[in-house]
Amino acid sequence: MQVGRIARIGRADRLWSPSVSPDSPAAVTVVASDPLVVLKSVFGHSAFRGEQEDVVRHVVAGGDAVVLFPTGKGKSVCYQVPALCRTGVAIVVSPLIALMRDQVEALKQAGVRAAALNSAIAPEEIARSRADLLGGKLDLLYVTPERLMMDGFLAMLERLPVSLIAIDEAHCVSQWGHDFRPEYRKLGMLAERFPGVPRLALTATADADTRRDIVERLALNNARIFQTSFDRPNISYAIALREGGRRQLRSFLDRHTGESGIVYCLSRKKVDETAAWLAMEGIRALPYHAGLDRETRDGNQDVFIREDGVVLVATVAFGMGIDKPDIRFVVHLDLPSSVEAYYQETGRAGRDGGPAEAYMTYAMADVVQRRRMIDEGGADDTVKRVERAKLNALLGICETAGCRRQALLAHFGEVYPGPCGNCDACLSPAETYDGTEAAQKILSAIYRTGSRYGSGHIIDILRGEPTEKVTNAGHDRLPTFGVGRDLDDRTWRSVLRQLVASGIVAVDHTAFGALTLGDGAREVLRSQRKVQLRRDRAPVRERTRRRLEATAAPVSGPDEGLFDALRAERTRLAREQGVPPYVVFHDATLRALATARPRDIAGLADIPGIGRSKLERYGPAFLRVIAAAG
Ligand code: ADP
Ligand code: ZN
Repeated sequence: MQVGRIARIGRADRLWSPSVSPDSPAAVTVVASDPLVVLKSVFGHSAFRGEQEDVVRHVVAGGDAVVLFPTGKGKSVCYQVPALCRTGVAIVVSPLIALMRDQVEALKQAGVRAAALNSAIAPEEIARSRADLLGGKLDLLYVTPERLMMDGFLAMLERLPVSLIAIDEAHCVSQWGHDFRPEYRKLGMLAERFPGVPRLALTATADADTRRDIVERLALNNARIFQTSFDRPNISYAIALREGGRRQLRSFLDRHTGESGIVYCLSRKKVDETAAWLAMEGIRALPYHAGLDRETRDGNQDVFIREDGVVLVATVAFGMGIDKPDIRFVVHLDLPSSVEAYYQETGRAGRDGGPAEAYMTYAMADVVQRRRMIDEGGADDTVKRVERAKLNALLGICETAGCRRQALLAHFGEVYPGPCGNCDACLSPAETYDGTEAAQKILSAIYRTGSRYGSGHIIDILRGEPTEKVTNAGHDRLPTFGVGRDLDDRTWRSVLRQLVASGIVAVDHTAFGALTLGDGAREVLRSQRKVQLRRDRAPVRERTRRRLEATAAPVSGPDEGLFDALRAERTRLAREQGVPPYVVFHDATLRALATARPRDIAGLADIPGIGRSKLERYGPAFLRVIAAAG
């Protein structure tokens, strides 16, 4: 297809209509075909972020692209802007119906002519969208892969000018990924059916296997691959031992009043209990898990998305396809299933680029339980080995004394120079010490008692506690009895936990959690291997907290009172139209408004996130709020 000049001229007559109003949301949008002008006038962003511009220019010029950006880096712009710069309708394939609805709504608010076709849409609306499509009145059309592949649909599209084809969540094509969708495999045929139409595949999953599958299965061999760092600099990471889980959660949430966040628990029961307890504590918390009836579950999800400041307590069943941009925190009360899962789940925070926190608490019991589940599970040995390695990688990040971000990114094969200055390890570095002698004492106590006892008994022996169990077994006569009086119980448990995490001490589940010597234990006993240990931090120290807050705070902060008033206005406008508040404006836009306090339309136009359509639609209302605040 001839792009560039011809497409641009073709587009130039479609001037942006100044008559856009809430009653005519689908008015013609485009001002110009220069990507930067489109970005500013339609989306209100003053500059492209990172690699966005390269992708956009490449696609506008007709090239294919594979876009591997982490969540929140702004993948949508990569196809939405080219869609408006090129002639014809852009086809966006997406597997997630709920997400489609919100994206189409957000586009309409920006004055873009967008529609979605999927099984959740009423027949009348489908008929209307079809008519718009055939009449050349659509800029973007979102479809599920099933709908796209339906008989006749592709043939109909072939007769229309198609500006580009974007395949979102492209990792669904890969069996290696966690969201494999067989119908994605068929999308490869689009290459033949739409020759000359640029195609983009976009995903936040970037391991080598998935990437190879995307290129092969979607026939993107000539595509340029755009990949950015997977770092999410605005997310701060903290991982703590679980010690009085509820108190820790409470004090964490106290720092996040009025913010939206997710609290992940491993079991449905814990979800229910935690949500009920938080509600009793006066926090607006709602449960979400697969055991709830559909209506309750969807209702709770809806409240979380549409209202400000709700805490959603959930199992991992929640989150796929949620692109609420202003989730300010993600808490894991239990160990997640892998580093990949942890990164994906925490990645749901801070999509809008604003400061966000990922906070995990875990206990040794989680590790022991997880190991048992793997060992006793029905999987074959290879799978078990992979699962053990995954758990160990996760533990490595939990137990590291170094920068969490560096460890996380290293897991994804990225070298991060670190320290990042925005994780608990960087903000309050853990002290490390030579724990070789302590480890030897533990190992020797385990060995001398025949590898038959659990941690309580072993620690009693080391601490010289003559309990009944100890004396009955004659363990008070062992040379190791009392050799560990210099350390308290908590410290011994910390040493033991770290030894279990590193595999030097193993736990035998078939013998009621008896401790045994693990890999490398003999080398430690023979002083051929040193053991470096980390002193446990006190849970969520005041100091860290203040420093975390300090890094998060903008240089010259917004007026809090005005911010709240603007937020109330946003809620009102969103309710009126039945859309989520962030579809009206993002938090960052409200914050910028509360800081800059523009007095007129010209001043408003400079605020990030306010394109021309929203300026007309909402400008006067927000100017009134600012004026009323004095
Ligand atoms: P992804 O799909 O990669 O997770 P999105 O496309 O949802 O990311 O964008 C994430 C957020 O970043 C959105 O809130 C979007 O408005 C914002 N955003 C995207 N590009 C820009 C930009 N160039 N300038 C400012 N904000 C942007
Ligand atoms: Zn760090």
